[in-house]
Amino acid sequence: MHKTDDSRPVLIIGAGLSGLALGRLLTNNDIANIVFEASPPERSQGFAISMHERIAMHCGPGLPTAGTTSWMCVMDIDSRASRVRSQVLPHIVPEVVPVVVYHGEFEVSRDEYDRYMRPVIGNANILAGVGDGFNTLITVCNITKTRVHLDWSYSRPACGENDRLFNDKKLEDQTREPPQALLDELSSRQLAEPWARYINPETIRQHSVFHWISRCVFMPTADALQAAQAGVVFIGDSWHAMPIFGGEGSNHTLVDSTELAAAMVKEAAVDRAVAVYYQGAARRCPEAVRRSRSRFYVLHRPMAEWREIAEKRRVKAALKQQME
Ligand SMILES: Cc1cc2nc3c(=O)[nH]c(=O)nc-3n(C[C@H](O)[C@H](O)[C@H](O)COP(=O)(O)OP(=O)(O)OC[C@H]3O[C@@H](n4cnc5c(N)ncnc54)[C@H](O)[C@@H]3O)c2cc1C
Repeated sequence: MHKTDDSRPVLIIGAGLSGLALGRLLTNNDIANIVFEASPPERSQGFAISMHERIAMHCGPGLPTAGTTSWMCVMDIDSRASRVRSQVLPHIVPEVVPVVVYHGEFEVSRDEYDRYMRPVIGNANILAGVGDGFNTLITVCNITKTRVHLDWSYSRPACGENDRLFNDKKLEDQTREPPQALLDELSSRQLAEPWARYINPETIRQHSVFHWISRCVFMPTADALQAAQAGVVFIGDSWHAMPIFGGEGSNHTLVDSTELAAAMVKEAAVDRAVAVYYQGAARRCPEAVRRSRSRFYVLHRPMAEWREIAEKRRVKAALKQQME
């Protein structure tokens, strides 16, 4: 087993899934690395999932400029805040997918959860909700004996130029008061229980609501290799961000980390390790971004199509039963 002969640490920018996984794999193989994270350590989700007890970690501002202190600066910054990518490859601009996604967070008592949610969600932590061209999803983020932290999302494809929720000129992710257009739209949806109880115009005013812009990043391999010459290697969403509905982001993120670490362990020369990594990743990632972009529309189809699918499944199951 080889290891690169340069003993300077790999700088990993971003303690998301990819950064933490890479940090852990490199550490396991005695390759020095430091993970930098912009968010404070008390953040409730993300790197707080805590795989970092054996990883050198630096939180907060004061990050190094790409490529100044190490032979390699690996980054996994998310697509919208990818400062390193926009410095090294300014022409790679994320594509905004014409979809509407709002997200809200809230808490309920454990008693309330057991009464209204538990009978429907059981032991799962995601309650899918499919409507006529839209989705409402409720996720359990954290559950204790007394409180339950949940989030919801409301999503649909954008509908043309007059879409009040998509053609918001402030195309930025932001936390803010839910817009009136969203409240009006939710009122008209006639959601079933328990969605109606939590995702309605009155209750969501009390939630922390986030307007989510879905972005895709497509990065040609030639650009990625050019950035590698400047000491920057991309893993995770920074170079293949994709919509989260039906997305494969975390899978590819973990495969990136695994393959890059394996190449760095195996190859003596860093540039060779990076080339081997991109050779594999370039075959899977751009296609995954395209697949996930089109899956958004599949998951937000009209109710008539869902019914057709359900009917076909019912007929197929009945036929199978007859044959047995
Ligand atoms: C609600 C939601 C649901 C999802 N569901 C799925 C799913 O079902 N299946 C699936 O495959 N994928 C899913 N994904 C996508 C998946 O979570 C991402 O693809 C994955 O987390 C990407 O990991 P990453 O490490 O590349 O980026 P991130 O997890 O975004 O981590 C990037 C980290 O870098 C930090 N950072 C940013 N800028 C800087 C900076 N300048 N300096 C230092 N640190 C910085 C950020 O704070 C963050 O911690 C979902 C995503 C979300 C948000």
